[in-house]
Amino acid sequence: MKKVLILEDEENIRSFVVINLQRAGYVTVEAGTGMEALDKLKENPDIDVAVLDIMLPDIDGFEVCRRIRATNKRMGIIMLTARTQEMDKVTGLMTGADDYVTKPFSPAELTARLDALVRRVRGDSVAVSELLSQGPFILNTRNRTLEKYGERIRLTQVEYSIVKLFMQNPGRALSREEILASVWGREYEGELKIVDVNIRRLRIKLEDNPNIPTYITTVWGFGYKWGS
Ligand code: CA
Repeated sequence: MKKVLILEDEENIRSFVVINLQRAGYVTVEAGTGMEALDKLKENPDIDVAVLDIMLPDIDGFEVCRRIRATNKRMGIIMLTARTQEMDKVTGLMTGADDYVTKPFSPAELTARLDALVRRVRGDSVAVSELLSQGPFILNTRNRTLEKYGERIRLTQVEYSIVKLFMQNPGRALSREEILASVWGREYEGELKIVDVNIRRLRIKLEDNPNIPTYITTVWGFGYKWGS
């Protein structure tokens, strides 16, 4: 049984989502306000995933997400964002959401995202050998995810491959050529600069202060190293 909480104050949208998710095999729990959602979660600790609207009459969806995450890291959370509010996506992910769906969305899209999230939430019984753990980071090589202090960091496939290479070689200086060959393949004809561009992006995602990197350090005139 897959159980989903739907937090949406607009009744039309809510019942539309509910009908479609029930059709897709979900047991649904509904809430029209942020506080109601938090109450329903307490009554239903077996909820796997939540769909949170942002604009609500009481506390907003970000705050609901934050409060859920304060006690529950495991539940999957999808934010419903408006097309025009690009910042919503960033804020949503910062508050601990796993994914977002932009309004207007198709029921098929929402169901697909939720199904993927349920699979992820339930794929928790990961063998230890699939986890690489260093400092605050845990890399899961089965579902290709990275966490820092238990919070998911969203990576592109290339960024993931770079982090994996680093974490498999802690403290070892890796040349830019070596990184390029390992991540992009020996046949890749592109410039070495692409390594630097990806490192810069990774530092923004991983470092406490991207200007003073401590996880991905520079080896001048050579390449990069995981750790100092
Ligand atoms: Ca709303």
